[in-house]
Amino acid sequence: MRYISTRGGIDPVSFSEAVMMGLATDGGLLLPASVPQIDERTLRGWAELPFQQLAVEVMLPYVGDDLSRTELADLVQRSYASFTHPEVTPLVTAGNRRILELFHGPTAAFKDVALQFLGNLFERLLEKQGGRLNILGATSGDTGSAAIYGVRGKERIQIFILHPLGRISPIQERQMTTVLDDNVHNIAIRGTFDDGQRIVKTLFNDLAFKAHYHLGAVNSINFARVLAQAVYYFYAWGRVTRGDTGRSVGFSVPTGNFGDIFAGYLAKCMGLPVERLILATNRNDILSRFVRTGVYQLGEVHPTVSPSMDIQVASNFERYLYYLMDQDPSAVRSLMEKMGREGRLRVSDEKRQQVARVFSAVAVSEDETLEQIRSTYQATGYILDPHTAVGVRAAADRPDAICLATAHPAKFGAAVRQAIGVEAEAPPSLQGLMDKDTRCVKLDATEGAIMGFLQDTLQGQE
Ligand SMILES: *Cc1c(COP(=O)(O)O)cnc(C)c1O
Repeated sequence: MRYISTRGGIDPVSFSEAVMMGLATDGGLLLPASVPQIDERTLRGWAELPFQQLAVEVMLPYVGDDLSRTELADLVQRSYASFTHPEVTPLVTAGNRRILELFHGPTAAFKDVALQFLGNLFERLLEKQGGRLNILGATSGDTGSAAIYGVRGKERIQIFILHPLGRISPIQERQMTTVLDDNVHNIAIRGTFDDGQRIVKTLFNDLAFKAHYHLGAVNSINFARVLAQAVYYFYAWGRVTRGDTGRSVGFSVPTGNFGDIFAGYLAKCMGLPVERLILATNRNDILSRFVRTGVYQLGEVHPTVSPSMDIQVASNFERYLYYLMDQDPSAVRSLMEKMGREGRLRVSDEKRQQVARVFSAVAVSEDETLEQIRSTYQATGYILDPHTAVGVRAAADRPDAICLATAHPAKFGAAVRQAIGVEAEAPPSLQGLMDKDTRCVKLDATEGAIMGFLQDTLQGQE
């Protein structure tokens, strides 16, 4: 399988190259040159496979010759051994509502599904090719811990995560700083999240520095993350239909950067009978406005009770745009250039109708989110986290849709308490965090301070 850029500016690359590249060098996003098609007979055969076996089947057509089936199976086994539920992503019910729980990984949020796999994949590819990877990222809380857990203790990989000193929740801070592996470097900067992002961007733009220190990112644009997430759409469909290919299902997806829901779209493109994807946003509704109006336009970011969906631009959206523009990279390029210049882009009415045949978009307010946590709890005893609640609310008039549960409710205790007066019991991964040892350096929020720390830490690396 070869990979191309949504903007058409690179020669096709292999799966390994696509994974190591992250973002395409022409500024576009990487996608497979063609989407593997799964026929009905194969789908029926997949319907009752355990999660790990299914993951191998779904991913194998994408990896080409870069990994053998046995190597891939080994990576998958190790990646999901860290999940506390034997089914990895169990489908449960709350009353009549089906909920796909994606939060049984080490940081209690759905990003573990992709990042546990990505960490092992990086390690394996580096072992085969030689070389090193030094991951640098800034976090406002959630992604940082999932990335750290993905690569802790891995050979040939170091990770440096910047967080704003004293400005993230104590639980989130502890989730990162209690990881004591030698290859994990937590840096609390004396500044804001925006300072962290600015520093990371500046260092990545210094191409000589980036190449010399083998810097890489783990942000949500890596295609391997999307791929790992496509698996649970197949899994949930199989559990509901038992392989009846005449039955299609809908999914409601709490959406921020469009990574999770794009994985659902990819599964649909592969042939999974997906009837509809409900794109659920909080009041940061750039995506739901696009689905309703065909206009994709930057707005201001508002803080909400579902902070992992508080975004300004959805970094994976360009992947969908590529398919919407009939796989024409020059059309994508000109739309994205327009976006860069004017902060907005628009698609034709015909295209907008095409979007609406697959996606329904619903923006959910803060009050509605809390009210949903309350009503689900009162009716069923099941506690939704605020992100999941956005998705459940958005699917209110589609009782059959499967709602993706993206975080454990104990991770967002304050919002849950505000809604129902009690908090969910913490899973083992979140217990005792405040009593553990921590390691973290404090640095000034300047490019120079961070560069110096990286140089000191990495000197002597081959
Ligand atoms: C990241 C995240 C989301 C949004 O997922 P995207 O792939 O960015 O759309 C939703 N819920 C939680 C809990 C998250 O951490």
